[in-house]
Amino acid sequence: MSKVYSGGCACGAIRYETTSAPFVEIHCQCRDCQKRSGTGHSSYLTYARRADMAITGEAKTWRVAGDSGNQKVHAFCPNCGTPVYVTFVAMPELIAVHAGSLDEPGQFNPQMVSYAIRGHAWDMMDPSLQTFDRMPG
Ligand SMILES: [Zn+2]
Ligand SMILES: [Zn+2]
Repeated sequence: MSKVYSGGCACGAIRYETTSAPFVEIHCQCRDCQKRSGTGHSSYLTYARRADMAITGEAKTWRVAGDSGNQKVHAFCPNCGTPVYVTFVAMPELIAVHAGSLDEPGQFNPQMVSYAIRGHAWDMMDPSLQTFDRMPG
């Protein structure tokens, strides 16, 4: 039995579900993630095959070049404003969902911290996690 990962925005208009396993689970402390989350980092589960993610509801999207210079497409609910998922222009197969949007956020199992160099003293990460000054890989 494969595990189901499902979730959505705060008002329920946008929903997603997959039985795929994420290939990377990460906290990101880049400035873009700080700005959008309103705090020190964002947390993501990233899946290798966007096609395996069933999404319902109409998200709005906007693009930003992250600290890496790569264009990211942020999808959010136009009704409640919740950021729900992120896709990447240069890697169109990938999709990342925000850990806090999961129906069971305890499924998130962070493995690493990216852009740790941008992290703030008040946003301490688990010191046992692998950290990267920038994006790994
Ligand atoms: Zn919503
Ligand atoms: Zn980031």
